[in-house]
Amino acid sequence: MKLLLATHNEHKRREFERLLAGASGVRWELEMLPASVTLPPEDGDTFAQNALGKARAAARACGRVSIADDSGIAAAALGGAPGVRSARYAGEHASDAQNLEKLLREAPAGSPLEYVCAIAYVDPRGEGLERVFEGRCRGRLAAAPRGERGFGYDPAFLPDEIPPGPGDGVDAPTMAELSDAQKDAISHRGRAARALLGWLECHQTATSG
Ligand code: IMP
Repeated sequence: MKLLLATHNEHKRREFERLLAGASGVRWELEMLPASVTLPPEDGDTFAQNALGKARAAARACGRVSIADDSGIAAAALGGAPGVRSARYAGEHASDAQNLEKLLREAPAGSPLEYVCAIAYVDPRGEGLERVFEGRCRGRLAAAPRGERGFGYDPAFLPDEIPPGPGDGVDAPTMAELSDAQKDAISHRGRAARALLGWLECHQTATSG
């Protein structure tokens, strides 16, 4: 079964490929959005609205079953910011490093964080079908960035579900210090992707008889 992934973000593409390849049962093949398809601006108030906007645009442009995600980080000390503005927190064309630096400047070390991911599924065939799946991952802000893996805010995100190991001193590993498998098991995107896969497998069985 083929799914068109509506993103031009290379990090997300790699994470989705891993997450869908690891699924049991029906195999899902990811197809990439052609570079010529422009996605709409992420100007919704919720992750779900933005994910749906991107999946609808891809489904309309390509006539294919499409998925898209919108994700970000919410800091309790900042009233939930940057939230849906996570990619543009330090400015319209800010880099991941600039966004991360701003979060470390504005929120206190140790304060609660939450990653959120919404994945939208849009089937443009027939009467059309839309679904949104959400995943969350709670953590705290590290005092300073650590780790080379992951992307975005990962070097400053201490996941609650990964406690400090015996050799880790006072600080547990950041998301950027986890293996791909460790991140996928607890991440907001991993959880949302597993919710999508669970539904797809039931939906597939129901529609194929
Ligand atoms: P968007 O979903 O393309 O709007 O991007 C959301 C932004 O949130 C990214 O640019 C990252 O800064 C941040 N983000 C979302 N998911 C992750 C993650 O798994 N790790 C680190 N940062 C993330």
